[in-house]
Amino acid sequence: MITFPKLLQHFPKLYIRILVLLTLVMLTITLWPASKPKNPPDATTKTLDLTPKLLIENTQATLQPLPIIHPEKWTSVTVKSGDSLSTLFQRVGLSAQDVYQVSQATKKTKALSPLFPGDTLDFLIKNERLDKVRLIKTPLLQTIVQRKDGTNYTVETITRKPDIEPRFVQGIIKSSLFVDGQNAGLSQKKLMQLATIFGWDIDFALDIRGNDQFALIYEEKYLDDALIGEGDILAAQFINRGKIFNAIRHSDGNYYSPQGYSMRKAFLRSPVDFFRISSKYNPNRKHPVLKTVRPHRGVDYAAATGTPIKASGDGKVTWRGTKGGYGRTIIIQHAGIYTTLYAHMSKYNSKVKKGSRVKQGQVIGYIGSSGLATGPHLHYEFRTNGVHKNPLKVKLPNAEPLNKEQMEEFKPVAKTIIELLEAYQLGSPLASI
Ligand SMILES: [Zn+2]
Repeated sequence: MITFPKLLQHFPKLYIRILVLLTLVMLTITLWPASKPKNPPDATTKTLDLTPKLLIENTQATLQPLPIIHPEKWTSVTVKSGDSLSTLFQRVGLSAQDVYQVSQATKKTKALSPLFPGDTLDFLIKNERLDKVRLIKTPLLQTIVQRKDGTNYTVETITRKPDIEPRFVQGIIKSSLFVDGQNAGLSQKKLMQLATIFGWDIDFALDIRGNDQFALIYEEKYLDDALIGEGDILAAQFINRGKIFNAIRHSDGNYYSPQGYSMRKAFLRSPVDFFRISSKYNPNRKHPVLKTVRPHRGVDYAAATGTPIKASGDGKVTWRGTKGGYGRTIIIQHAGIYTTLYAHMSKYNSKVKKGSRVKQGQVIGYIGSSGLATGPHLHYEFRTNGVHKNPLKVKLPNAEPLNKEQMEEFKPVAKTIIELLEAYQLGSPLASI
């Protein structure tokens, strides 16, 4: 199925257009729901509306005459810096007594505090008396304080859940993932997430070629038909130099290939984010401080003192302390046959001690120049069965694949989402661009 759009490139344009039209008609016939059920208000990320959006947009409900409602007259005030409940109440002509009664009602729950500049308070005043005051914190959270009897007020907090709808986006790389992704309508945040998912297999600075393709389905959050935010990427595809990578989100929040292999590797390629490699792995190097031939069995990452150093994989700290010329050093024992070493630190993360379990990417310490070092850098070693390996070249093992039980949950989800991705692609093939 995946190669289908590629196949299309070999046909004349007119054929493709006819084929696209036919496919759309077929899809419409097969996928058009007899009557589309309204999404329940508490739709969660687990419910997937499998009807491609193209079709939803064409579905028009018959307009019913609206019932006549006499709207309540609310007065809104925007909170400015230095405002308090008193000044806000004053501004709409309410008394100190009203402030006192509302404060009493909200004292315990702090429902109306803290107020920030830009927040809006809505007042419903009936016969010159406060009936309701409403604070809309976010579209999903609002508080209403309502007069019950005489001088007593009740507080009600209303939380709402957004409707989740899948959104499909695809594109072809002309200049870079960043530029073409934004042109295709992706936010910078989504692009970062996309690059992170495939970042283990594809170097987005070096490996990208013109005509590489990407496609993804992610969640959009709607409230009363208005878009209020983005959710997770559910599935993504990247075709890099003809090689297809598919990634699907599992309920553990990680991404796996349709076969259940983790998209991430068990080790980060580099334990520092911002660096320049100042010395490579070299068994015959002359040591810059000792001036004798001493093999360099690691990689040096030069970066400013204080730059965070991350554990390159999950594991257990077996050493934390000064270790001769290495200075302040941490050694991590990973599952199986792997150990990693981090030297010349300026300081450790105080929470990471000998015996601590650490997670991949967790900050374990900070770059420095303790021990025998000419300047601030991380000296990083990677050992397999106790034997030094070049961290820049060693074939990194994959992270744990899904086990049999997890696969039972994952497989049907993966199948459905890949089919949906393909249905979308057929609905608007790249070949027509
Ligand atoms: Zn070194």
